[in-house]
Amino acid sequence: MSNCIFCKIVEKEIPSDVVYEDEKVIAFNDLEPQAPTHILIIPKKHISSINTVKKEDLEVIAHIFGIIPKLAEEKGIKESGYRVVNNCGNDGGQTVGHIHFHILGGRSLQWPPG
Ligand code: IMP
Repeated sequence: MSNCIFCKIVEKEIPSDVVYEDEKVIAFNDLEPQAPTHILIIPKKHISSINTVKKEDLEVIAHIFGIIPKLAEEKGIKESGYRVVNNCGNDGGQTVGHIHFHILGGRSLQWPPG
């Protein structure tokens, strides 16, 4: 997708602070971290949101959930705990139309979210 900021990160057209990458996914530090650890993990394929995940995309989504605990371990937040967030659509607070999962940790997170 030519005007998608996360596709541009995938294509290295804009810089990002990459913490993990393989052939299917990339993870990078959020530009405006909301916690000491705030990573975004995304599929390289453009999928706009949870609402448009197709059956053939489920493999990469499962792959992402396999990587999340490894990143949490690397960042030293696996044992203390962390939060995985997906914002979907306007009321969900989604601002970038390329599916992404926030990994937040390194502090005690409150519930419910605002
Ligand atoms: P959303 O609100 O769930 O869609 O989250 C989008 C996230 O992308 C926000 O936390 C932004 O701070 C983050 N973000 C936007 N542009 C960039 C970027 O270029 N690099 C890293 N993070 C970004």
